[in-house]
Amino acid sequence: ATSAGSAEWDGKGATSDEHRIKVLANVGNPADASAAAEAGAEGVGLFRTEFSYLDADDEPSIDQQRAAYRAVLEPFRGKPVIVRTLDAGADKPLAFLAPEIEPNPALGVRGLRVAFDRQGVLDRQLEAIAGASADSGADVSVMAPMVATAEEAAWFAERVAAAGIGSAGVMIEVPAAALTASEVLDAVDFVSIGTNDLAQYTFAADRQLGAVAKLNDPWQPGLLRLIALVGEAGKAKGKPTGVCGEAAADPLLARVLTGLGVTSLSMNASSVRAVGASLAAVSLADCEQAAQAALGAPTVAAARAAAKGVS
Ligand code: PEP
Ligand code: MG
Repeated sequence: ATSAGSAEWDGKGATSDEHRIKVLANVGNPADASAAAEAGAEGVGLFRTEFSYLDADDEPSIDQQRAAYRAVLEPFRGKPVIVRTLDAGADKPLAFLAPEIEPNPALGVRGLRVAFDRQGVLDRQLEAIAGASADSGADVSVMAPMVATAEEAAWFAERVAAAGIGSAGVMIEVPAAALTASEVLDAVDFVSIGTNDLAQYTFAADRQLGAVAKLNDPWQPGLLRLIALVGEAGKAKGKPTGVCGEAAADPLLARVLTGLGVTSLSMNASSVRAVGASLAAVSLADCEQAAQAALGAPTVAAARAAAKGVS
């Protein structure tokens, strides 16, 4: 095995023994999408649709949404793209979905929770996504942010099916969703772990607050153990389990995540090649060994050292 990121990459995510891991990109606008395609991403693992509307006072029309989504999907004709429905609230407030004043916005009505009282907003967005999918020829799935229970996941999957979209997933960002990953996976076609929020809620540490940033380190063994639960559930159910938080962009951690059973990694375009090369340099058995070593470590530093020691 070679050290993380030092080998070449042929553009198809896999370990040296051909265990497939899709290497995807996170995008928020057409410029990101072009950069991702140029970087060699195999598709998009997270399209943050709310980024298009941070300045919008009113809900964009279905036609406006359809055009905005098509512009992002176009470079990925024939390739997989996971479109996330609006993740409004907390660190990404949208004026037209502003909640009541909340004492703790990160624990409030955000992400999919907004849609429970305003189903029309979700249904109109899904209609626009279905249209943009047909326009672009991209292989589109949709997923919901901030899902806490299997019941919520099932409710979302029903809305997605009603919109005529063939594949529905949810993000695992709330510890309860990780702990019940088997039931959540029964309700949807795939999950994607958002390690930024999953860390925030696991360590009770605001992701925007520098003073607690040490807790929000994706190498924290407490976070790795939750990811392991999701990876195991995904393997048992035979359903895709991605990671689309910052953790996926770390070439060494990418090996650990692969060893934990994750099947795709989605990151900023600038990290795509380094992560692809890091995976290509090791076998699945190396990844599994690195994962077990990191899981058993007591600290962030020990987890990283243990993973490095393997490969
Ligand atoms: C996450 O929470 O890890 C994630 C990918 O979503 P966002 O950063 O947009 O909240
Ligand atoms: Mg999130």
